[in-house]
Amino acid sequence: MSLRFEITQTNGTARRGCLNTPHGPVETPVFMPVGTQATVKGVPQHVLEELEVQILLGNTYHLYLRPGVDLIRKLGGLHRFMSWPRAILTDSGGFQVFSLSDLRKVNEEGVTFRSHLDGSSHFLSPEKSVEVQIGLGADIIMAFDECTEYPAEPKRIRDSMELTLRWAARCKKYFEEHKDEVPWSYQQSAIGPQAVSSFEFQVSRSLDRPQNSNQESDTRNSTQALFGIVQGGMDRALRKESAERTIEIGFDGYAIGGLSVGEPRTLTREIVESTLEYLPRDKPRYLMGVGTPEEIAAYAKLGIEMMDCVLPTRAARHGLLFTSEGKISIKQSRYATDQSPLDPNCSCRVCHRYSRAYLRHLYAANEVLAQVLNTIHNLFYYLDTMRRVRHSI
Ligand SMILES: [Zn+2]
Repeated sequence: MSLRFEITQTNGTARRGCLNTPHGPVETPVFMPVGTQATVKGVPQHVLEELEVQILLGNTYHLYLRPGVDLIRKLGGLHRFMSWPRAILTDSGGFQVFSLSDLRKVNEEGVTFRSHLDGSSHFLSPEKSVEVQIGLGADIIMAFDECTEYPAEPKRIRDSMELTLRWAARCKKYFEEHKDEVPWSYQQSAIGPQAVSSFEFQVSRSLDRPQNSNQESDTRNSTQALFGIVQGGMDRALRKESAERTIEIGFDGYAIGGLSVGEPRTLTREIVESTLEYLPRDKPRYLMGVGTPEEIAAYAKLGIEMMDCVLPTRAARHGLLFTSEGKISIKQSRYATDQSPLDPNCSCRVCHRYSRAYLRHLYAANEVLAQVLNTIHNLFYYLDTMRRVRHSI
C-alpha cells in the first residue's frame, strides 16, 4: 500500500474523500500547512495536532541543504525526526531552486545551483530529487519539474514542458527502482529505545483512528506515493498535452504546477478549470501554491483535492490576519484598546482567549508570542474554511 484514495461524496464538480496514507487518513479537499524547515514556523507539532492538521508539507530544497538528507535518513526519516506521526508531503525542490538560489544553470541532466545559505555549489536532477525525497520519507513525494516563468514565449513554454515530461519519466523510473529504501522501519533507527517508546506513545495518543495499533506494520509494508506535475504555462492546448502525457507515464496523483507565478487570478482559474478536465477522476489532484481563503474554497469546489500555500503562515508573521469579517492588519493603532476577539465567529483558542488589543501589543512589541498566536489563528481559519467546504459537498 502506498496511497488509497476514496471519493465518498460528489456535488457538481466538487469531490469529498479521503487519502489513506501510510501515516494516517487525510480528509479531502485539504489545505496543507507549509512546514518549510521541518517546522510550521512558530507552531509546535502538538498544537498542529490540536488544529486537526492531517498532512504537512516539507520543502526538499531547505531540508537537503540543512540539516541534510543523510542525517534525517539516519534518524529514521522526517516523521520521526520532527515527531510528526501524521502524513507529510515533500515538494521536489525544483521550485525553490528556481526562486531562491543563485547562479543556477539548467540543462538536460538537471540544475546546478548555489545555496542561498552559504554559496556552496549543488546539483539537483530528477533522480537526485527522488533520492532525497525517499531519504526524507514523506508519504507523498513530487516529481522534479521546471516551473515555467510567466510571461513566456510559446516556444519557451513548449520546451520547458517537454523537459518536465522527460524529467517526469526519469523520476518515475528512479522511484520504481528505489521505493523500498524509505526509512520507515522504526526499530532499525539510530534513536534510542526511550525515544522510540515516546514516539509510539505520541502516535497512539494523538491519532484517533483505527489503524493506530498497527501503525508500524502499516508503514513497514508500504511505500511512498509519487505525484506527477502538469506544466504548460498559460496555454490550454499545452496544458492538455502535458496532462495526457504525464498520465501516460503513470503517477499516484497529479499536481497542477506553474500557476500563481504572477498571472492574473482569472487566468489561474481558467487554466485550473481546463486542466482538470484532462486529469483522471479516480486520482487525487493537487493545485500547488494557492491561495487566499476564498480561492482555496473555490478551487475545492472545482474538484481540487489538495492545496498548499505559505500565505496564512507568512501573513500571520506580518500581522495580517484572515477573519470572517475580512482581513485585519493587527499592527494598526485602532486596535490598541479594542477588547473584542480577533474574529468573533472563530472558535480557535486565540480568538477564545485574547483581545485584539493584546495581539496588537504583542505585535508592536515584537514579541515571539505574536507570531505564534497569529499563525495559530490563520491556520485554524484556513483549515476551518476547508472543513466547511467538505461539509458542503
Ligand atoms: Zn481565531
